[in-house]
This record gives sequence, C-alpha cells and structure tokens, in this order.
Amino acid sequence: MSRSIPKEIFNWINHQPFPAESGEWFEKYKPADGKLLCRVARSGVADVKKAVEAAGKALPLWSEKTAVERGETIRAIALCMADRKSEIAEIVALETGKSKADALGETEAAIEMGFFVAGEGRRNYGRTTTATMAHRTVLTKRMPLGIAALIIASNTPIANVAWKAFPSMFCGNASIMKPSEDTPATASIFGEICRDAGLPPGVFNLVQGFGSEAGSPLVESPDVALVSFTGSSDTGRMIQKTAGERLAKVCMELGGKNALVVCDDADPANAEKWALSSAFSNAGQRCAAASRVIVFDPIYDAFRERLVRSTQELKVGIGDDDFLGPVINENHLKNMLLEVERAVAGGASILVGGYRMDGPGYSGGYYMAPTILENVGADAEISQKELFGPITILYRVSGFDEAIALANNSMLGLTSSIHTGSIHRAMEYADRVEAGVLVINGGTHGSEPHMGFGGVKNSGTGWREAGLEAMDVYSDWKYINIIHDPGKV
Ligand code: NAD
Repeated sequence: MSRSIPKEIFNWINHQPFPAESGEWFEKYKPADGKLLCRVARSGVADVKKAVEAAGKALPLWSEKTAVERGETIRAIALCMADRKSEIAEIVALETGKSKADALGETEAAIEMGFFVAGEGRRNYGRTTTATMAHRTVLTKRMPLGIAALIIASNTPIANVAWKAFPSMFCGNASIMKPSEDTPATASIFGEICRDAGLPPGVFNLVQGFGSEAGSPLVESPDVALVSFTGSSDTGRMIQKTAGERLAKVCMELGGKNALVVCDDADPANAEKWALSSAFSNAGQRCAAASRVIVFDPIYDAFRERLVRSTQELKVGIGDDDFLGPVINENHLKNMLLEVERAVAGGASILVGGYRMDGPGYSGGYYMAPTILENVGADAEISQKELFGPITILYRVSGFDEAIALANNSMLGLTSSIHTGSIHRAMEYADRVEAGVLVINGGTHGSEPHMGFGGVKNSGTGWREAGLEAMDVYSDWKYINIIHDPGKV
C-alpha cells in the first residue's frame, strides 16, 4: 500500500467520509506494477440517494450566494490545491501510472482552471439591451440548474475533476461527482480540499464505484437536473437515452479518432515530434490522441522511417524522463492487444510495438509498447474504433483532398491537426475538417482553461467544456423584462 493514498477510499458526502451503505468494497490496483493500491467504497442506489439529499439541502444557500462570493470560494480551493500540488500529483501518478512530472503538469492545469473560473465571479456577464417599447429594459442573467451529476473518465483525473467541478460550483449548483473507478483517490483529495478551503458541506459530493452501480442511479435520479459526462461514446449514448427520457439536461464529452495530417510541405521534424506526442504521450489515453496519421505520398516513406525509428527509441516507464507509462488497467490492455490481433488478421502490418511489455521494470504492470500499424483500410474496424491507448495507424494519401476525406471518414469529430507550410492549405483544412478543435503545425491534443473544448459528430452533443462556454453547460438563462414606468406604457 502507498503512504500517500489511504488504504480505504470512501464516498464524500457533506464533507464527511462514508463507506458504501452495502459495506462493499472493490480493489484498485497500481498500473505501474499491478499491486493493490487501495480499496474503494462500492456504492449503489442508497449512496446516491444520500448524496442527492445532501446536495438538495446545500443547494438553496449556495445558489443564493453572489457570483463574487462563489468565485472567492473557488479561488480559495485553487490556492489550497496549489499548496498541496505535490501531494495531488503523487496521487495522480500512483493511480494512473503517469510520471510525477506529467502528473504535476496536469495538476497545475487543474489549478489554472480554478483561477480562470474564480475570475468569472467578477464578470458573470449577461446582456442588457433595449426593448421594442419605450420605458423598458431587457436583460439576461445566469441561473443555477440545481443538482448536477458529474461523471468522469480516468485519463487525466485531476483535470477531469476541475473541468466539471469548478464551473458547476461557480454557476451555483450542488454537485455529485462519480469519478472513474480507476481514479478514486484523486477525486477524494479534491473533496477534502474543498472542505479545507471553506466550501459549504453538500455543495460538492463524491460517490465512488462502478458506472452501472453508482453512475446509473445518478443518471436516473429525478432530482438531478444536469448530467455532465466525460467518457466513451458508447456509455454516453446509454446515458443520453436514460436522461433524455426525463428531459434532463445532458452534456456529453466523448471519444475521438483524431487525424494528424502531414502534407508534403510540412516541417518533417516538427510533424514527427507532434505525431509522437499526440499518439503516445499519456500512453495514448487522451480523447484528443492522434490515433490516425495521414501522410502525403511523396514524403510517406521517409516520414514512416523517421516515425518508426523515434517510436522504437521512446522510453517507457514511470520516471520523469520516460515518454509514456502503463495504461490504466489490465482489461484495457488486453482489449487493445485483441484489437491489434484482429487488425493483423484483417491484413494490417505492425511497424513497431503491438505487444505487452514485461520483464525488468515492467513486471505486473499494464504496459503496451507504443504501436504503429499500416496497411489498414479507411473503413476497417480499427480505423473507426477509438482504442484509447498508445496505438496509431499510418495512412498514405495522394494529396490534400484525399487527406481531408480520410480525416472526415469517422463518426467521431473531436480534434485534428495539419502540418503544412501553406497558410492557404491550413485555412482550407480548418474550414473543411469535421472537428471541434484544430491545431495547425502542432499536436491533436492540448487545451487552455479559457478556451471551449469539445467535438462534433459522435464526439459530443454540441456543448463545450472549459472556457466561458462551460458556463452554458452549468447554468440556464433568465430573460428579465423591466418596465421602468408602467404609467407611460
Ligand atoms: P467509460 O465510458 O467507460 O467511463 C467513463 C465514466 O462513466 C466512468 O466514471 C464510468 O464509471 C462511468 N460509467 C460507465 N457506465 C456508466 C453507466 N451506465 N452510467 C453512468 N456512468 C457510467 O470511459 P473510460 O474508458 O473511463 O474513458 C475513456 C473515454 O473517455 C474515451 O472514449 C475518451 O475519448 C473519453 N474522454 C473524452 C474526453 C473529452 O473531453 N471529450 C476527455 C477524456 C476522456
């Protein structure tokens, strides 16, 4: 057991730790070596009910606070996170298997999100304008939604917490978060920090457990006004259906099968650097990972050679100078190996990787060697399905139009990137690519706290996280019509 993670992770309701009402636990293993990390409350309907009641009680006082007051509390939480950032990063690293340096970078990004949202306390703008008739002013004001269910994935656990918890709190909601079963401790320390920073009890609660047992009852609860979900498109579809039945507001941030295009006028070293980082950093467990690399024919062979060589040289492990670590759990690793096996049976060639890493340094851990495939059809299963791991596919195209057609040949549309020396090409790609985020001459991943992030097609349902756009997820508008002088109307 680790010293920085308690051996039992509880639910967090009203700023108090509770085991599951059933008394059941599940075990969480370390991705780095497969050893037991902690046991976690295995929650169900009764725990969700308890959290919903706590949130319901906290809601009136919290939602009546001014935006300035709520912003100040969020600033206090962000400051407290900054004081404890090394401890948070250690937990993130242990739970996910990423290096301490990467975990620290992620923690700092989560803190920045807190500061960005806190600053909104002094803005929180609506619109004020004239009306058709004289002696009237019309204005709009943001209103809280009520109880928000925040369901998140494990890949960047503290960033995922921050992206939902801060804007939800800021907008005056009381939230219940269901963290991923793979990263319970990161959410748990955030709950503690909220208490220490002065957030009133019941405004932010945590229910730990599996999606089908602890997530489903949250989605089904008639008291939950918003379901904000980050995860796979398959789970998202299920949740959307259930929450849609009772007309709840639903925000979906789903998967990606993101294309990085390398044109014949690209800077090859820069394109190689970003292809490596987009495909393999965080062990490819990014919604914004480049799982497809599309290269123009005249430079294809040379680019393939340099990308394969640099992939072979990548250091795998949990140290700060390693490029990627393990994937999140044993099942995920096994599924990816099966997908690669199936692709090979269908004619794909493995240029590098394609296997589980074991032996000294890797024993017991969930390490997938960084993998590049080739000779895969645009419509093959592996070209269409998100694998969420360190696997990418190289495609050869004759030119620009074929590259765009291939990039858009996906049900998903989260991010994309194009490498070119031509501003004309870059801007035409920006217009035509079906993605919510585009990077020119960089990676498919990366985000800023002040910029809305999200996808088109089956990568989402039209909402954006982060940025001011996030406020639209967690609040509703009220349109107020003021008649100043009723006598004159
Ligand atoms: P997942 O869909 O399996 O699980 C995500 C969360 O949903 C977990 O907390 C899980 O317990 C919960 N869940 C599962 N079934 C549920 C149910 N029936 N009801 C309620 N909750 C349920 O996804 P994952 O494998 O944990 O995460 C990887 C996915 O997340 C990838 O598809 C990735 O692209 C996506 N993702 C998207 C973004 C984004 O911003 N678009 C960011 C990070 C990850």
